[in-house]
Amino acid sequence: IIKFQDVEKYYGDFHALHDINLKINAGETVVLIGPSGSGKSTLLRTINGLEDIQKGKLVVDGMDISSKDTNVNKLRTDVGMVFQHFNLYNNKTILENIMLAPQIVLKRPKDKNREIADELLAKVDLSNQGGKYPAQLSGGQKQRIAIARSLAMDPRVLLFDEPTSALDPEMVGSVLNVMRDIAMNSDMTTLVVTHEMDFAKAVADRVIFMADGKILEDSSTDEFFKRPKTERARQFLSQVE
Ligand code: ATP
Ligand code: MG
Repeated sequence: IIKFQDVEKYYGDFHALHDINLKINAGETVVLIGPSGSGKSTLLRTINGLEDIQKGKLVVDGMDISSKDTNVNKLRTDVGMVFQHFNLYNNKTILENIMLAPQIVLKRPKDKNREIADELLAKVDLSNQGGKYPAQLSGGQKQRIAIARSLAMDPRVLLFDEPTSALDPEMVGSVLNVMRDIAMNSDMTTLVVTHEMDFAKAVADRVIFMADGKILEDSSTDEFFKRPKTERARQFLSQVE
């Protein structure tokens, strides 16, 4: 469902992604790890068109992103993203946050939209919180709302960029539980940047390890944690585990 072919990404003169070749199949759960500055967020952001690429070919759900005619709205309907800092609309209620994009982009009828929003609130264990504003919720609750908001668009691909790294430790578990539920019990394709190695071991089908803008390893989860192929990955694991 996602295919990078010889992709290169520059920020001005800075070469951020080197020769990326990567295929992700529909329904897979892939965890992307690597040191700070290795290009994880950059890679994720190319997938929903938040960053453009300078060379190579990138196809997402049948859409060629490298081409100028890509319909970015269609792309963002198919590919959802959850950020480290939630990015909720702070002047809108929780329900409005969840219902806004489906209403405007998908033209989903109001009753149906509300029904789905209520289901999603239940799914992330925040039923009856729909009338509150983001400022009235904890970080973990906000992140679960951000996930519900993404799910409301019924995306085929969901990207997570360090969704738990801005949270207090006691909030992390509830967010990981929701993510685990999505990864295990839906046919959505999920790509997760995280430093939560226990989560990766439990949920990922595959691990991609990046350093210096390159993919150094692309292995099954078992293989990666038992027998990392590169010294960089061994070093990295000894620091985070
Ligand atoms: P972290 O774990 O800290 O989030 P990361 O692996 O997500 O790191 P990126 O954010 O993708 O790394 O950044 C990769 C490299 O690209 C870094 O050297 C960063 O400084 C650089 N970079 C990222 N965004 C920009 C930008 N908008 N303009 C210029 N350079 C950038
Ligand atoms: Mg990042």
